Amino acid sequence: MSGQPITEQGSAFHIRYGGQVIPCQVLYKARKTMEIAVHPDGQVVITAPLSAEMEMIQDRVRKRVRWITRQIIYFQQFQPHTPPRRYVGGETHLYLGRQYQLKLLQDDKDEVKLIQGRFLITSRNSPKPDKARQLLEQWYLLKAREKYAEILASRLPEFRRFGCKEPRLQIRQMKTRWGSLSPGGVLTLNRDLIRAPRECIDYVVTHELCHLKYKDHSTAFYKLLEQLLPDWEKRKHRLECMLV
Ligand SMILES: [Zn+2]
Repeated sequence: MSGQPITEQGSAFHIRYGGQVIPCQVLYKARKTMEIAVHPDGQVVITAPLSAEMEMIQDRVRKRVRWITRQIIYFQQFQPHTPPRRYVGGETHLYLGRQYQLKLLQDDKDEVKLIQGRFLITSRNSPKPDKARQLLEQWYLLKAREKYAEILASRLPEFRRFGCKEPRLQIRQMKTRWGSLSPGGVLTLNRDLIRAPRECIDYVVTHELCHLKYKDHSTAFYKLLEQLLPDWEKRKHRLECMLV
């Protein structure tokens, strides 16, 4: 099956392949050859010589479309799984690794409560999916702040012996990773990680804290991780397989 460009817009166009629409971006540069790259977030970027004709660029992309699709699928496996959610009653949502059904009700307050194994979402006007999503996302963020801080506090004593500065916690929604530690000592955790079991959050926190001592993923890094968390691989696997 060959890819078929369906639209053309300035330096961007789309390619259709196997029922998928793949957006492509073209960057023109003073160079002789053309380069096609798929970024981890699934973006396809083509670097082309200034003189390259759009038709020729699209032709080259069409020829590489199978490879492009493979790359996109490859990168997708590293992304936090966020299936399309509709935020309607009866739909299940995760919190600390458990599934809870949504129940939407009209009440005096805009609120999310976890009662009797359910997410009860109330709003003054009977809650529409958009409102329910907004309220639930706020709730997740609140819980993320609370739980991540707790887990971080429980792990920090083990790292004091390295004499490192305590990292500052930051919570973000990230597309491609669960956590990171900046050279400046900011520990960033993905807000969506709050959906995962506590032991998986603990694994991400511990992994990132090990970077206080070792910046890379060297043997010494894994030795330290193994020492602190002998079952880290199991937790990592659980994290990668749980959130589907
Ligand atoms: Zn790492």
